[in-house]
Amino acid sequence: SPNCDHLKALVRTVPDFPKPGILFYDITTLLKDKYGFASLIDALAEHYIGRDIDLVLGIEARGFIFGPALAYRLNAGFVPVRKPRKLPAPVARVTYDLEYGTDTLEIHQDAIEPGQRVIIVDDLLATGGTMEATIKLVRQLGGEIAGLGFALELDFLKGRSRFPDFDVFSLLHYD
Ligand code: IMP
Repeated sequence: SPNCDHLKALVRTVPDFPKPGILFYDITTLLKDKYGFASLIDALAEHYIGRDIDLVLGIEARGFIFGPALAYRLNAGFVPVRKPRKLPAPVARVTYDLEYGTDTLEIHQDAIEPGQRVIIVDDLLATGGTMEATIKLVRQLGGEIAGLGFALELDFLKGRSRFPDFDVFSLLHYD
């Protein structure tokens, strides 16, 4: 749509970041645009409005930027999914494989009541490894996953194929 083309034009691509050969999609240029930020939140919210969402989970760090704005718009609570040793109270933890090595994410054990309906958001869907790990955390706590939301999706990596049973929604798609 024209709206999405306009938003795409606000995303900056940075070659060779964070390492050689990687093309990094930088949303800070979209976020700082007052039309762009509002349009991003509105378009994401539109997908979920009327669906009875209890919680929006944001994945550290860029999921913390628009997750809370989306939660506010949906009258939902916000829950941070964090890197290790940041959360003060007892946590559930998941470790997952990266291209080289592993990474860990944590959530407060009491962050989700069993049966609460949650959506999980992050800035970008690449291989889907980060989201898959976060889904495991939500399952440990007994939450019900109502959707997976992203600002950007790198379609060619086929990350969404990991989530055949979920509503996967991304605003901007890249081939
Ligand atoms: P995945 O786990 O392979 O899907 O990678 C997605 C995670 O890596 C998300 O948390 C993103 O924030 C981050 N990420 C990977 N590539 C990019 C990029 O080009 N721009 C911004 N974040 C990225």
